[in-house]
This record gives sequence, C-alpha cells and structure tokens, in this order.
Amino acid sequence: MSLAHIREHDISKEEVRFLESEGKDYCLSHGMIYKDKNENFQHIPFTLLPSPFPEKLFTAAREVQVDFNLLVHKVSQDYHFTKTALLSTVAADPFTSKLFDIYDKVWKQGSSKPEQISLGIFRSDYLIDTTGTQPDECNNYDHKAGNGGIADSIKQVEINTIALGGITFSCLVPNMHRYLLQLIGQRGCKVPANPALDEAAAGLIKAWELYGSASAVIMFVVEREEVNVYDQRLLEYHIKERTSAVCVIRRSLADVFRNSETKSDQRLFVDGLEVAVVYYRAGYSPKHYPTEKEWEARLTMELARCVKCPSVGHQLIGTKKMQQVLAKPGVLERFLPDKDSVQRVRRTFTGLYTLDLGTEGDHNMKYCLKAVKKYVLKPQREGGGNNIYGEEIRRILLRTPESRSQFILMDRIQPKLNKNILVRQDTPVSECIDVIPELGIVGIIISRGDEILLNKEAGYLVRTKTMDQEDGGVFAGRAAFDSLFLI
Ligand code: ADP
Ligand code: MG
Ligand code: MG
Repeated sequence: MSLAHIREHDISKEEVRFLESEGKDYCLSHGMIYKDKNENFQHIPFTLLPSPFPEKLFTAAREVQVDFNLLVHKVSQDYHFTKTALLSTVAADPFTSKLFDIYDKVWKQGSSKPEQISLGIFRSDYLIDTTGTQPDECNNYDHKAGNGGIADSIKQVEINTIALGGITFSCLVPNMHRYLLQLIGQRGCKVPANPALDEAAAGLIKAWELYGSASAVIMFVVEREEVNVYDQRLLEYHIKERTSAVCVIRRSLADVFRNSETKSDQRLFVDGLEVAVVYYRAGYSPKHYPTEKEWEARLTMELARCVKCPSVGHQLIGTKKMQQVLAKPGVLERFLPDKDSVQRVRRTFTGLYTLDLGTEGDHNMKYCLKAVKKYVLKPQREGGGNNIYGEEIRRILLRTPESRSQFILMDRIQPKLNKNILVRQDTPVSECIDVIPELGIVGIIISRGDEILLNKEAGYLVRTKTMDQEDGGVFAGRAAFDSLFLI
C-alpha cells in the first residue's frame, strides 16, 4: 500500500477493523478522550492513517510562524492602529465591542508598562489550495498531480490567538499513527514528531518564572461544562511533571468574579492564591459571558499584573476583521522587520474583503452576490460552526445590509482532497472517503514590554473533515484529529 495514495482496494476490510480496534484501545489507554454532552466518555474522533502532505508545504507553514507571532504581538501593542482597524466591527458586533472596551481600559491604565510580560500561544491554520493563484512563489509544492500542472500552495484559513484546543491530542495522534502503521508493516518515520505539548508547557512555565514569585500559581480559566477536559488536564499534568514547584489551579470566569481580589502593585489573588499566569481556555465566545459578572472578571484579570495568555490585545488581533485589515496593501510592511518576512506572510493570504458601509464595502458585496459560492462570510466568532456559505450568504447580506460590517468576506479556498477513514465512537467506521486535512502550526512568543524574549514555531495540529462539511469542528462531530505523513 502506498500511503501517499490510499485507495479503498489498498486496505482490506479486515485490516480496517483491526486498525480501528487498535486505534481505539490506543486512545483510551493514553487519555485521548472527551466527555460528551451526557457526561459519557468517548475516545476522540481520529483518522485511521496520517494524511499525506507535501514536506515543502509543511516547512513553509513552519517557517512563517515566527513572522505571524511577531505580527500579532506588534499589532496588539499599537493601540491607535488596532482601534482604527476594529472601529466598524466594534460598532456592529457587541462581543468585539466588549473585548475592545477592556483593551481600551488596559491601554488607558498604562498597562503596556515596560516590565509587562506577555505570553502568546497561537496557531495559524492552513488548507492546501489547488487553484495555484501564485504559481511562482517558492512555498509551492511542485508535485504537479491532478491539477493540470499548477503548483499547490498553503493558504491561511485564520489565526487563533486564544484557547487552542487539542494541543495535547495533536501530540499523541502522531504516536498512535506510527504505531498503527507499524502494525501493517509500514514505517512511520515520515510522521513528524510534535513538540506542541512540551512547548506550551515550557511557555507557561517560562511566563510563571518571569513573573517572579515562587508561591504564585498558573490559573487555567475554563468553562464549567467543558467537553474537552482531558486535553487541558494532560497539559496541566505536563506542567507539573516539568516543574514540580508550579501549582496549577482551574477556575471559571464566575469563580474569578466571586473569589478574586487585586492587591497592591496590581497583584491578583484568587481564593487567597497569587496568580502569576492566567491561561484562558474559555473567554473566546459570547456564551462564556452570560452576565456582566464574567465580563468584570475578565477586566479584573486584564488590569492585573499577572501574565495573560493571551492578553485581550492578542485576542483582538486574532479576529477575522483584523486578518482582513492585515491583508490590505502596505499594512504588513508597517509591522514586520523586512521584505522577506512580509513576503512569507503575504503569500499565505487568500482574498479578504471588507464589508464596511461605504463604497468599498458596497463594491465587495455586489461582487459577492454575483457568485456567492466563491466566498465564505465570516463573523467575529471562534470555535467552528459560525461561518456562512452559499445561498445563505445572500440571504444574510440582503436581510440586514446595515449590520454587514460584523462580517468579513473571504475567498473560498478550493482545498486538496485526500482519502482517509474516520473513526468515531458509536458510529460505524467510514469507508475510505474524500477528506480535507487542515494543518495548524503552533507558535509561542514571550515578551517583556518591547523586548521579545522568545519567538518560535512550536509544533502542529491536524484536523481532517469529510469533503461534504463546510466548517470543521472535532467535538461538533464534523472533523477528526489527524497527523501528517510527509511526501
Ligand atoms: P473558527 O475560528 O470558527 O475555527 P475558521 O475561520 O477556522 O473559524 O473557519 C472554520 C472552518 O471553516 C475552517 O476550519 C475551514 O474548514 C472552513 N473555512 C474557513 N475559511 C475558509 C475558506 N476561506 N475557504 C474554505 N474553507 C474555509
Ligand atoms: Mg478560530
Ligand atoms: Mg478555525
């Protein structure tokens, strides 16, 4: 069997059943599980085999990550630029507006003080684009199969700056895939190792050290009804294993509202424990803030001296609106250090268009309505399942044209298809079907004021969805954890 071209007839039904059972045992034995809505444990959805992926494109995605890290950080420190960029969105979208209010208060308090430490754990997501819109760029893959000789390239879907889910599982799945490959006599050395868990733990510990108080804790801010608990807990245990001196606590936004106190020097205490680092695994969705209390808790943490991962500024730079603004001519040049860096970033962009009220927005809307299938309409939301596609775009834009600036428009990437088999609990194993892998590259950046103390690429995550799904989402049952087989 050639892994690069898995076909139905290359793998027998018996082999599939054998690997499925082995894979499920592997997941359960390694804590690759989540809690479903009825509080039952399920193994994570996974692909039976890693996705074939051009090494050249993997390298290109890894190489641009430090540029993206720097870009997000630098933009977040430019209050006036951020304010102008988000003005129309803030006016149209109450959630962005609430976040911006906090950013505004932090800035006015002067919290970008010289000694302020920041930690960003980001992930930039890509699809392989088959339209070859920039065939001369050097990040192109020159295996010219199946698309008339036009080279493939990576195109950024979005950048996530808050609460990356699956960071632990993304490191365990490559190990599982290597094991499964060995069982069918294949070598797994083309499945790259993934340091994301180790790097995220190291980043959180480094931030804790920089804060400089041995008795202070790292606080995970979590949802009370979290599905993806074990992914978070494994990270927590990993931190403890690396540095036993660190204490990790888990609290919800409501807990922080009830039990926190800011003392002298803006030191934050929760249940009497000083907090060195706030690591948000909640706070990216309006549903995490059911009342003003949760917003108040967020503001308290942002105004405090502790390190926020991410700061509200980093979170805002991860909005879809900001992605669109950064793609405008001349903007990258303002923040990135040199031409090469600008070029590396720019060639990952696909068409991004404003829908702000005015001539440009009118023009973009008109073009979109002529060919809605070519676009994705994106609100300022995270976590999957929020985008709008096809005829629904027309309906939404025509129904409430005056509030259209809560969205941006993006070219719909025509992704490359692979074959794979998806394994989900309580669902009969799929046939070998057409799937779309989405590659995320993790990046970590630590700074003190203007000084960058660490900026690195730090591993990967692959989620694979079936071809008929428009939005991927692992825990929503639309995608599965995957890894790569480099070709
Ligand atoms: P979220 O922050 O909710 O994850 P994304 O921008 O990542 O939002 O969109 C969710 C999913 O929708 C992606 O994982 C991808 O499968 C699909 N998607 C998003 N943008 C595009 C695009 N421009 N072209 C094709 N598919 C897209
Ligand atoms: Mg996102
Ligand atoms: Mg996404």
